[in-house]
Amino acid sequence: MAAPKPPSEIARETLKLLAQRRLSPTPEHYQALYHEVAGTSPPPAFPVAPLRAIQRVLPAQTPAQKRLLNQFEHAVTQQHWPGLQSVLVGYANLAITPVSTASDEREAAAQVTLPPRLAEALARLLHNLLPALGEDDTRLLEMAAELQTQLRGPQARAGALEQALADFNHRLSFAAEDQSAIRAGLLTLLRLVFENIAVLCVEDDWLHGQAQGLMAASTPPLSLRRLDDVERRLKDVIHKQANAREHTAQAQAQMRELLAAFIERLARMDESSSTYHNQLEQCAERISQASRPQDIAPLLEEVISATRAMALSTRVAHGELQDLRSRAEARHAEVEQLRQELDRASAQARHDPLTGSLNRKGFDEAMSREVARAQRQGRPLCVALLDIDDFKAINDRLGHATGDQALVHLADVTRQVLRPQDQLARYGGEEFVILLPDTELDEAAQIMRRLQRELTTRYFLTEGERVLITFSAGVTRVQDESDSSDAVRRADQGMYLAKRSGKNRVVTA
Ligand code: GH3
Ligand code: MG
Ligand code: MG
Repeated sequence: MAAPKPPSEIARETLKLLAQRRLSPTPEHYQALYHEVAGTSPPPAFPVAPLRAIQRVLPAQTPAQKRLLNQFEHAVTQQHWPGLQSVLVGYANLAITPVSTASDEREAAAQVTLPPRLAEALARLLHNLLPALGEDDTRLLEMAAELQTQLRGPQARAGALEQALADFNHRLSFAAEDQSAIRAGLLTLLRLVFENIAVLCVEDDWLHGQAQGLMAASTPPLSLRRLDDVERRLKDVIHKQANAREHTAQAQAQMRELLAAFIERLARMDESSSTYHNQLEQCAERISQASRPQDIAPLLEEVISATRAMALSTRVAHGELQDLRSRAEARHAEVEQLRQELDRASAQARHDPLTGSLNRKGFDEAMSREVARAQRQGRPLCVALLDIDDFKAINDRLGHATGDQALVHLADVTRQVLRPQDQLARYGGEEFVILLPDTELDEAAQIMRRLQRELTTRYFLTEGERVLITFSAGVTRVQDESDSSDAVRRADQGMYLAKRSGKNRVVTA
């Protein structure tokens, strides 16, 4: 590549070229030829006409806007990009921070003091907002504290507050974005953990089911109740895993001990049989060398006693091995029994392994929590009890296993139809209860009827056959803590009445 020409050289050549081509010496001609000589490209033309068009529509009502418009005009005339840039920034700032501009009206407004009740409401809003933002951004917390002090000061001036609020708002928008990104990140992590649990416990159906339940429960949108559910399930899973690990470790240690004993015993057997072989060889040697029968007789005695000893030791070994084997079998049975006990204990956890809904224990806990919440918030709480109609016939016709799948189907549809705050529990074989927080009695009955309608369109499919599942239900309102078991009894009576009056209905009690 040739070295670039020095600017003085280019300038000289440009002037020569201007003369040669007989062009008038305008700045445009000079510039074009200059770039031709230098071999560079001319900068894009300054778009005067479009900029003038923009200038015509820019607002110029307030003194600040008028000043900016003058600057714009000047920048276009001078073809000065940095000047235009500062005008644009000026207009943008007018929109964000009107207080900082010289608008007379706004300045007047800035002196207005805020009504004390509005100021107090704003201060409280800030106070309530802060816990949601975490404590990572200390500057944001400081700004909030300053704002609250200002708001609660003797005279909260609108102007100063407007500026402070705008700054706070700006920072707040970042903090809120951070928080939502953090939440999403945590949720992803949580699901990863659950997936990992599911992979780790492939051999254990119960754990596997719980892990799947955890994954479903941690799918957005999250509510406090679902997080509650996640927490409880996770505790059950951790508890069971810890137990399982402990028992596996125990069983392994025992098996290792037994194996060591087997090996030791086998080694001893091998030792005693080689001693026996040596003795026999020696006797055979001495027999072959003996010339008289009376010399042979004691040798034979020796052989017989060695054989006897060998037989004895083999019998002992056999007995010992037998003993070891029965001990191993006993250990195995023990471990199996422990495992079954563990499964039973897990079944007493809070979820029904078949349908994944709460079990009796989980329901009782949920009921106490919801009654307390309802009382605290002064909100109504309803409970519904449903019993599948003619379930025995379904079982008889399609088999018990299909009956089980029908129960799973009902639980799935119910969970889909219910709102996130409602909780489903399996109360007995084919009986379920549903807790409906923040719900009046007639609304609860409507929800149950909606579930009945849904079941008529979402058939239970088995081997290509569409099976219609219907249920009868009783619904009642839970008054307070002392009423919770009475309420379930009332719902049960309602369900019974629904059966008596022809099934597939909902009765309020
Ligand atoms: P009704 O409309 O009066 O409720 O009639 P029903 O046949 O549903 O009532 P019944 O109480 O006579 O029978 C309930 C049946 O539910 C009997 C039992 O075998 C069956 N069942 C209970 N628990 C389970 C279960 O876990 N799986 C299956 N497959 N069947 C169950
Ligand atoms: Mg029943
Ligand atoms: Mg039934």
